[in-house]
Amino acid sequence: MRLIRTSSEFVAATEAARNDGATVGLVPTMGALHSGHRSLVERAAGECGFVAVTIFVNPLQFDDPADLEAYPRDLEADLALLGDAGADVVFAPEVNEIYPDFPYISGTTVHIEGLTSMLEGRFRPGHFDGVATVVTKLFSLAGRCRAYFGEKDFQQVSVVRRLVRDLWLPVDVVACPTVREMSGLAVSSRNVRLSESERTVAAVMHRALVAAATAISSGVDRPEKVREIMLGVLATAEAVEPEYAEVVDPEDLTTPERLSGEVRLLVAARVGPVRLIDNLGALVGSTFGRDLQIFDASDATPSGTTHAPVTPTTVNEIARKSPVSATRSKER
Ligand code: AMP
Repeated sequence: MRLIRTSSEFVAATEAARNDGATVGLVPTMGALHSGHRSLVERAAGECGFVAVTIFVNPLQFDDPADLEAYPRDLEADLALLGDAGADVVFAPEVNEIYPDFPYISGTTVHIEGLTSMLEGRFRPGHFDGVATVVTKLFSLAGRCRAYFGEKDFQQVSVVRRLVRDLWLPVDVVACPTVREMSGLAVSSRNVRLSESERTVAAVMHRALVAAATAISSGVDRPEKVREIMLGVLATAEAVEPEYAEVVDPEDLTTPERLSGEVRLLVAARVGPVRLIDNLGALVGSTFGRDLQIFDASDATPSGTTHAPVTPTTVNEIARKSPVSATRSKER
């Protein structure tokens, strides 16, 4: 595995891989890697002959300077994880390589109308312009590729798909299921900033999603009722301050008056010093639309009280998506 620092070397590496006949799999990350990122890299390695992972804490997508400052960074540990997960190159540029005039942002930025103003966009103004801008730059450098994103950031996947569609970018976007701790808490780089008790409490977000998904599968189709269920569960944890709890159409992220077919439940809340987001799919009147859920015991709580297999286990009604540990492709 090769560590690359410059854009020109990154372009050369991905071009060379394509010239050798490999499909390029791209996994954009902000580092502080965990089993969720690992699942993306393993999936890419199973489907592509060449895997490029990018590590870049993108200042443009942080609306809160304190959050940017506190964002965890550990390149050495990241490289160890990526070597093991099957990455071929890691592109970890300095900020000036991506934004030459930083801290001034001059030149072109990317804005996507509509999808970026709701949900996260309401609470994090400018966040998705930052995401769309950096993702466009990374796609330009990587060239034709399959790009792997986590459903953990469901709205981000929608935004990236829209970007690719609107700008005819030569990229296949692959959405991968959320990896969770055994408690149900979605694995996140920000979880390291939670105290042991906050981490335990934060699992209430997953319980709220599951309660709402269960109600939806038994036929509840009024968004107000679904919101009430989620907020009711969140209210059981005093240390959790909800920002939103919504149920939306997974295609355009709007809330219909009556729910039907596939829907997406999304929550955001502050737990101690950290803002967390999570989401889950559901199907009205049926348990079949429930997401594949992946629980990974290797991201145990600090108390180390988890016990199950280290390999992610799938638990749930119906596996709609391929499991996390895809086998390596023949392309390699
Ligand atoms: P980040 O480093 O937080 O920007 O995340 C990089 C990629 O990893 C994004 O596509 C995320 O959606 C994805 N990701 C983060 N956490 C998880 C998780 N728990 N399960 C699956 N994918 C994840």
